[in-house]
Amino acid sequence: MSEESSVDCVVAGAGVVGLAIARALALKGREVLVLEATGLIGSDTSARNSEVIHAGLYYAAGSLKARLCIEGREALYAYCAERGIPHRRCGKLIVATDAAETEKLAAIDAHARACGVGNLDYLTGAQARALEQALNAEAALFSPSTGIIDSHALMLAYRGELEDAGGMIAFNAPILRGEVTASGIMLEVGGAEPMRLACSTFVNAAGHGAVPLARAIDGLPAEAIPQAYLCKGSYFTLSGRAPFSRLVYPVPEHAGLGVHLTLDLGGQARFGPDTEWIDTPNYDVDPARGEKFYAAIRRYWPALPDGALNPAYAGIRPKIVPPGAPAADFRIDGPAEHGVQGLVQLFGIESPGLTASLAIGELVAGKLG
Ligand SMILES: Cc1cc2nc3c(=O)[nH]c(=O)nc-3n(C[C@H](O)[C@H](O)[C@H](O)COP(=O)(O)OP(=O)(O)OC[C@H]3O[C@@H](n4cnc5c(N)ncnc54)[C@H](O)[C@@H]3O)c2cc1C
Repeated sequence: MSEESSVDCVVAGAGVVGLAIARALALKGREVLVLEATGLIGSDTSARNSEVIHAGLYYAAGSLKARLCIEGREALYAYCAERGIPHRRCGKLIVATDAAETEKLAAIDAHARACGVGNLDYLTGAQARALEQALNAEAALFSPSTGIIDSHALMLAYRGELEDAGGMIAFNAPILRGEVTASGIMLEVGGAEPMRLACSTFVNAAGHGAVPLARAIDGLPAEAIPQAYLCKGSYFTLSGRAPFSRLVYPVPEHAGLGVHLTLDLGGQARFGPDTEWIDTPNYDVDPARGEKFYAAIRRYWPALPDGALNPAYAGIRPKIVPPGAPAADFRIDGPAEHGVQGLVQLFGIESPGLTASLAIGELVAGKLG
């Protein structure tokens, strides 16, 4: 090791969640350094998602996902409005195409109301088609608080506020391992300028790197670290004009939300993500997966032309439960959970992590306050 130095707070990972946490800590007057393994902010899961501001319809009542999604979405709309971050509260339709799905719709509606999501409108098929003529629907729910956002503009805003408050980001600075000490955590940082870095506060927001990083911290109880699983989601873009002006989702399936239609702020329609459990990370989109998309999409949009879908990109959900297990909540573990002062670790920060980012930042800064 060439150097040894110290800093008050270190945040591992410059994804949307790490940046939101670093921003919140810096705004509380803490000295903050973000260590990012790559050369960019938001280059992993934060660059490979649907960019939807979720309403919070599906999460278990009382879960962190439910609470942080609802709090985070309202904070995010206000933040975007204040800072001119491109976004649109376009709303989303959840579409039932047969009687069994219509029954599930009623349950989603009741659940969302119980979780405090806010008003959802129950629509007959005719009412749904009056909003979106291309739709095949037996019934639908309309969620007015769902929207879309330019997630890179959001991350740039978080970075700007972090740096204005005196925080810094070191790029190409992977954290290799750590050790719990009497006064905090000692980190070993790799890259071009390897060093040992002591900090009193350490936040592990390394996304897919969070579980391996936790395992590389000496002094952390092994039972405090979950198992990581990877659930890939591929997207396909639509050639030609989008047939809808609102987001369109089927009734959700087990590990994901079903092959849904989202729009970017330029009006380009994309479909996905599907679900594919994998052992080794890879972001290739297999064009053959598109075949299943046609059937899924035609349930709610029968006029989808043959050959209109093009492989686009993929993201990987950082799961902490295996295929078939009930969905896990976010894990935001502080000293109460693992017994180490000054340490917060985030595991399983899949959707709605983007929506919830501001609320996660406040929660973590509060745990360390
Ligand atoms: C397919 C898909 C669709 C989604 N759609 C939505 C959506 O529409 N709306 C929504 O709200 N959420 C959505 N999400 C969830 C959202 O994208 C994530 O919750 C969020 O991006 C997670 O951000 P993060 O900062 O935790 O992780 P990441 O963005 O993965 O960032 C982690 C960072 O840590 C760095 N890192 C890793 N290991 C180390 C190390 N040892 N040292 C230093 N740095 C390290 C990585 O390089 C990376 O930059 C989706 C997720 C997926 C997979």
